[in-house]
Amino acid sequence: MHIDINQFFAACAILKEPSLKGKPLIIASDTRRGIVSTSTYEARKYGIYSGMPTYLAKKACKDVIIRSVDFAFYHQKSEEFFTYLKNNVTDVLEQVSIDEAYLDLTDILSYVTDKYGYLQSLQQRIFQVTKLQSSIGLANNKFLAKMGSDYKKPMGITIITKDRIQELLYPLKIKDFWGIGKKTYPKLNEIGIYTIGDLAVNESPSLKKILGKFYDEVKAWIRGEGDDEVNPVQREAKSISSTSTFLYDTSDYEELRQMILQKSKEISQGAKKDKKVGKTVTLILKDASFKSITRSITLSEPTNDYVVIYDKAMELFDKLFSSQLFRLAGVGLSSLTDEKDKYVQMTLLDAPKENKASTKLLVKQLNHKVKKNILMLASDLKEKKDAS
Ligand SMILES: [Mg+2]
Repeated sequence: MHIDINQFFAACAILKEPSLKGKPLIIASDTRRGIVSTSTYEARKYGIYSGMPTYLAKKACKDVIIRSVDFAFYHQKSEEFFTYLKNNVTDVLEQVSIDEAYLDLTDILSYVTDKYGYLQSLQQRIFQVTKLQSSIGLANNKFLAKMGSDYKKPMGITIITKDRIQELLYPLKIKDFWGIGKKTYPKLNEIGIYTIGDLAVNESPSLKKILGKFYDEVKAWIRGEGDDEVNPVQREAKSISSTSTFLYDTSDYEELRQMILQKSKEISQGAKKDKKVGKTVTLILKDASFKSITRSITLSEPTNDYVVIYDKAMELFDKLFSSQLFRLAGVGLSSLTDEKDKYVQMTLLDAPKENKASTKLLVKQLNHKVKKNILMLASDLKEKKDAS
């Protein structure tokens, strides 16, 4: 099964502000370079689409309502969603993004005669618990399951058995084929491939040339073969990292900063849960051409405090950021050791003051916002003065 929350960011915004329901709403940063990350069906009626610059969306619909991203809330809702699935369906769950996952239902469904009915009641229960609408695809491999969850929205359920591939998928446009990107489908159009059906029956050398090493895989997918293994994520013992892909490439400093903050919180939580501290903080980025960029910094003392992690990650980020587009951002913590070993090396005075963390973070966030170090804690000032 592949399950995907419908218009996740917009749905979250409406949960926080129910009066937004039914209105043309976009989730976007309202800045010069801002981009629409999610638009409601009502906004789409005006020709607004995800990936559109915010200023154009405002032109298309002057009454459009804009809300900025709130990763902390998305993360909370996402956790609810995945926790529900893990506890009530199966923990053989592979999370692919903040709002979608593959689940292996082979065992569960072997006892169920009405598979559609089972999925329908699952979808309803998820809605009751999380107040989020989702779409579900069921098939015997990941590709078809993903195509299934995309097939009908919102609250869609599509079961794609091998004998229904032709009926359901062949008429779809080639750009709807999962994995075929913006760059590839115009090339396919050029050789007369417009639908998935066209692709299924084409065995020409020009198609082989366009798809290259993916040719066999793509062909297997349309036949209903291919990868069906659900891989639950396992955390490495020596490092913790968390990354998320933006819905659209972004060069928005504030959006990137928010993501880095959220990811710092996540890995801090993870480390605390495992009672680990780490000495190396890594900033993980992918640019618009999927090139990975990582920068690391080694701390004088190991930590799992998110303020420290965030601060170091932002230090690395500020050094390399020059308004370029990013597709993915995240943070890693490595060189992990057990928390209990840390305090042995530290004096009592160096021990982290947890209650100071939130004030410290606020100061850092304000400094990052104005891109200058103009604020500091009075206690730090005092320490500085004492030292000099
Ligand atoms: Mg979604």
